[in-house]
Amino acid sequence: MSATMRSAIVIGAGVIGSSVAYELARDGWSVTVVDKAGAPGQGSTSSSSSIVRFNYSTFAGVVLAWESFQIWLEWRTHLGAAQEEHIAEMMNLGVVMLDVPVMNTPATTELFQRVGIDYEIWDSKDLAARVPGIDVGKYWPPKSIGDAGFWEDASENIGALYTSDGGYISDPSLSAVNLADAAKRHGAHFRFKEEIVAILKSESRVLGVRLASGEELTADVVVNVAGPWSGALNKMAGVGSDFTVEIAPMRQEVHHVDAPPGMESGPIIGDLDVGVYMRSTPGGGFLVGGTEPECDAMQWIENPDQANMSRTQDLYDAQVTRAARRFPDLKVPPVAKGIAGV
Ligand SMILES: Cc1cc2nc3c(=O)[nH]c(=O)nc-3n(C[C@H](O)[C@H](O)[C@H](O)COP(=O)(O)OP(=O)(O)OC[C@H]3O[C@@H](n4cnc5c(N)ncnc54)[C@H](O)[C@@H]3O)c2cc1C
Repeated sequence: MSATMRSAIVIGAGVIGSSVAYELARDGWSVTVVDKAGAPGQGSTSSSSSIVRFNYSTFAGVVLAWESFQIWLEWRTHLGAAQEEHIAEMMNLGVVMLDVPVMNTPATTELFQRVGIDYEIWDSKDLAARVPGIDVGKYWPPKSIGDAGFWEDASENIGALYTSDGGYISDPSLSAVNLADAAKRHGAHFRFKEEIVAILKSESRVLGVRLASGEELTADVVVNVAGPWSGALNKMAGVGSDFTVEIAPMRQEVHHVDAPPGMESGPIIGDLDVGVYMRSTPGGGFLVGGTEPECDAMQWIENPDQANMSRTQDLYDAQVTRAARRFPDLKVPPVAKGIAGV
């Protein structure tokens, strides 16, 4: 390291930490990434549905998503990866957000116009014509499948906000591996299977980290990008109590069924009306995740390492039955398939 080179320790080699490492390394920093897992992208990143969409509630959020999308489209160029390198792919299939009261479509479309994102407003006839097999009933608000109201017929129909851009990343863990490889090409150093157990501090600043082995690493800057563990790392550093946004881990499940006919490579469906999102998979499957509807208890957890990482039959039944309400031809196999993540 030269006398003028700045140094950084990055805590976590998820998609965010690997990206931070890449940006710092190519900007001339000396970078060490520490992760307690055995490879990049093994935390939250590994269970991500990896949906790329633009409907966020702030200008900064929409711009960030749109700029990131441009990078996903040019992924190989962004990485500086050779043609033979296996890289993740942006599946640009479009995004259909069903129109529910909490969506605030006028505010969203105003942000889209400011950022320059093309969109279409669909009424229920457009929705039926553009999304094969969809039931266009409005069922708001989302209900538990044990609630008799869940099975009631819809009395009105729903429309949607559509962007032809957006979709999902074919393999989120691979995208973290790609970023880590790109960072390594610029000299970043990755240390896997090493857990950070303490943050070293002076009176006024963070100085470095202590590993479980007892080894201490120091740097000009320590970046906490430990995903769902980042709240615990903040506590280790004695910071966070005055943050306006608190970081807390939440357990979620995503279930896997066969895609209903016509939706094998259909757009992402954000369906806050019944409380699920849905996306196709490269092999003709269909992922069904939850949109945290008020009728379901949120699964906040203390320690991500102690979360139950197996899918549960109850949540599978709830989420996939909701998906089948929207796509009546979707088959609901009796045995749950899917993943849990934090
Ligand atoms: C089920 C599910 C579905 C999701 N779907 C989407 C989606 O469709 N679209 C979307 O944009 N986002 C989605 N997300 C969110 C997305 O996955 C995360 O925001 C993203 O992966 C976070 O990346 P990260 O690098 O910050 O964290 P992580 O991938 O969790 O990486 C953090 C790393 O820090 C390491 N670490 C933690 N503590 C320590 C320590 N003490 N010492 C050393 N290493 C440590 C961990 O081992 C881990 O590898 C989803 C999340 C879940 C759980």
